[in-house]
Amino acid sequence: MAIAKGLLFPNKKQIQIKLLQWFKKNKRDLPWRKTDDPYSIWVSEIMLQQTQVTTVIPYYKNFLKSFPTIRHLAKANLSKVLKVWEGLGYYSRARNLHGASKIVLKHFHGKIPATLKDLLGLPGIGRSTAGAILSFAFQKEASILDGNAKRVLSRLFAVSGNPEKRKTEQLLWKISESLIPKGYSNPFNQALMDLGAMICTPKGPLCPRCPLHRFCKGSTSGKPERFPSKTIKRKTPHIRAVCPVIHKDGKVLLNQRPPKGLLGGLWEFPNWKIEGKQRSRLRLRLKNDIKKEMGLNVKVNESIGMFRQTYSHFKITLDVFTCEAFEWNSNGKWVPIPELHLFPMSRIHRRIAESISN
Ligand code: SF4
Repeated sequence: MAIAKGLLFPNKKQIQIKLLQWFKKNKRDLPWRKTDDPYSIWVSEIMLQQTQVTTVIPYYKNFLKSFPTIRHLAKANLSKVLKVWEGLGYYSRARNLHGASKIVLKHFHGKIPATLKDLLGLPGIGRSTAGAILSFAFQKEASILDGNAKRVLSRLFAVSGNPEKRKTEQLLWKISESLIPKGYSNPFNQALMDLGAMICTPKGPLCPRCPLHRFCKGSTSGKPERFPSKTIKRKTPHIRAVCPVIHKDGKVLLNQRPPKGLLGGLWEFPNWKIEGKQRSRLRLRLKNDIKKEMGLNVKVNESIGMFRQTYSHFKITLDVFTCEAFEWNSNGKWVPIPELHLFPMSRIHRRIAESISN
């Protein structure tokens, strides 16, 4: 991978100029590009970490409407933040954003810090997000290496390693840093992102229309999609679980997930994993299982059906049954059905909630 020096520097100036010229004509019209407010830019960068631009836009607008300043965010309770985030996924981002806003309020007088070191000290901010905030909000010389930049730079310089591996990542960071034209890190970083999203796409890059075509080693190789090399995907595990929706006097029972970990802080209907053998007589066993798992006496009614959801590392199928409780005792929260929409839930539990609310 002795690529950076030999191939990078001869064309550096032309790459910079071509990319900036292309960006001037073709840049995407995005709401977070119409502000220099560090808080708004920070929110957008966190949302964009694992989500596509078109999905992010309405969430970004709604989030800023709900929490217009960092103070509003810091003072809000986590449940409200998760509710506004609901549907965007990767909820640790919302928890980190909320946690970081409290730190900024307490230790930085409510102002987003403008140094790499301080930004990296905040939950949810890695080096690329910090680089984006520094260059977009504070016009500082800083580089980025988000998914788009990784792909463009890997192809441009035919970096064959896997960017998830430390050595390759370090090389890409070096390339990203050394490419930044002095005083232009803001448009240059945005241009890299736009080129990756619009031209140098994961599948079928539009090389003939690319401003960097002449300099691109990946394209010259005839197989630009070979770069960057892919992580071999493991088979996604499939979890089966049973999920009783327990009613009593117009209310249903919800549990809140622990604050940390997957979907932390969200509300859901009780559920637990079932193994192969248990599935065959699920409905018959459910009354006893609910007594065992939750200490609650119930009558099991009909099946509402199977609900499926795919996450990044696993998929889940919930077998959902309605039940009628004979008593109130349980550790969960009894919620009137018309109020279910007030509780932040993952997509699959929201669908169950909607199916019993209609
Ligand atoms: S020439 Fe093709 S592979 Fe190279 S950066 Fe442009 S779109 Fe990507």
